[in-house]
Amino acid sequence: MMFSSVKGRNVIVTGGSKGIGRGIARIFADEGANVMVVARSGALVAETAAELDMSCRGKVRACSADVSRQDDVHRMVAETVDAFGGVDILCANAGVFPQKKMADMSVEDWDQVLAINLRSTFLCVKIATPYLQKSGRGRVIVTSSITGPVTGYPGWCHYAASKAGQLGFVRTAAIELAPLGITINAVQPGNVMSEGLAGLSDEYLQTMAASIPMKRLGAAKDIGFAALFFATEEAAYITGQSLVIDGGQTLPESLEALDV
Ligand code: NAP
Repeated sequence: MMFSSVKGRNVIVTGGSKGIGRGIARIFADEGANVMVVARSGALVAETAAELDMSCRGKVRACSADVSRQDDVHRMVAETVDAFGGVDILCANAGVFPQKKMADMSVEDWDQVLAINLRSTFLCVKIATPYLQKSGRGRVIVTSSITGPVTGYPGWCHYAASKAGQLGFVRTAAIELAPLGITINAVQPGNVMSEGLAGLSDEYLQTMAASIPMKRLGAAKDIGFAALFFATEEAAYITGQSLVIDGGQTLPESLEALDV
């Protein structure tokens, strides 16, 4: 049996100009969905949307917005409704991961990461909800992480808190959104090759790949396919859940477990 198609559904992908978000946008647009690609950088978001629009089956449009800002999120939703006529699926994916140890971390550093990663999730879901409800089959897919809910890494305590916070949000939001016919679930990527990881050293990336049972970092499309699954008709009874997509990265009990 094939999964049902998302063709013609209207999708918002925040952080869609690069990395995992661009992978999610491509998967939905390849399936024939209409996709609004959202990011702060107007030039890059327009470039990504134009490229996807040329090569994918669905319509792809661009919106320059900062999802940590309430006014921008209202405009993002309004531009999507203007462009496509509604919102059926929201992929709340935008996020940042500046690395700084707690001793050097300022209150401003903390607040910025929490605002972009966690406040944005609340804002996007809250503001899109009337349209997701109108859709009759509204779906939200939040990009969390293994970092925070499952693992830790020095320099990312603000990031880890934001990613664990997203899962707490998802569980309660699921109960509030269920009567409106909306499901909300999260994907938890392991290390995925993206522009956001470009600043990290080759040594870090090689060590990471070596610590993953599947011996490679994830690809953006690995996360896109999981997001697509949550958007199908067949996933209609799944809500408040999260799916780890990490090539087995969080499984080994010890370094020895990888070598046996
Ligand atoms: P990335 O390559 O740096 O892309 C981040 C995207 O988010 C860009 O499109 C960026 O565009 C956008 N963005 C950042 N801040 C924004 C804001 N305030 N408003 C709107 N858009 C914003 O990052 P990535 O690796 O693909 O990460 C995407 C998501 O996956 C994040 O939530 C991250 O926490 C999560 N994740 C990533 C990994 C990984 O290994 N890569 C692992 C686990 C979880 P602008 O900068 O132009 O706004």
